[in-house]
Amino acid sequence: MVESANGILLDWDGCVAHGDVPHAAGVAFLRRYADRIAILSNSSTLWPGDIERRLAGLGIAIPAERIVLAGHHALLLAARLGLATTVFGNSHMKALARQLGIQQVAVNPEVIVLLRDTKFSYSRLKFGVNALARGARLIVANPDLTHPGPKGDTVPETGALLAAFGACVPLDQLTLDVIGKPHAQMFHMACGALALQPNQALMIGDNPRTDIEGARRLGIPALLVSPGSALGLGDLC
Ligand SMILES: [Mg+2]
Repeated sequence: MVESANGILLDWDGCVAHGDVPHAAGVAFLRRYADRIAILSNSSTLWPGDIERRLAGLGIAIPAERIVLAGHHALLLAARLGLATTVFGNSHMKALARQLGIQQVAVNPEVIVLLRDTKFSYSRLKFGVNALARGARLIVANPDLTHPGPKGDTVPETGALLAAFGACVPLDQLTLDVIGKPHAQMFHMACGALALQPNQALMIGDNPRTDIEGARRLGIPALLVSPGSALGLGDLC
């Protein structure tokens, strides 16, 4: 399947990288198929250019245009809306929001962008849910509850923070956009970056619920790799 695929949509965290550092099998796979790969990740802590530079340092050329990240696309949607916005995320992503021209506010936001905010706290939760109760629109980078850390530890993800919001306000009554996999939007963008139709691509990822289910809905063949499967990325090089 890998050899014959016209293009490969490749997950990042847990698939080719742990803790945003590519592992040996990931590097070998990326080197071999770089010209056919689009990175398709629910990451909400990195810019596409971060991954482009990290790979370039390993001698692997995948341009930012072929790196589709949920946090980046959540911010692009907020930028298109052009409303007063509060970003729940790290300072690096808030800098990206500034670069995209997003008007960031500390009071009365009309939009909340929820990324993997490692400074999330009781006071931030209180601020967020009260803004949502007043009618703010919510843009969420991804629905993932956790991802695997570098030593097999559990890293709470953006979906876990969304669950905290959902404990306080009814999410089904909000204007809510969830950007990342398994939703179709980013799959289409990654296929577009490779100039392919969905059925011409192959998705490879470690998460059955986001990578594999999202691909299946669009008719994209998909391979589940470890830790979600006995198949390792190293077996595909
Ligand atoms: Mg993954």
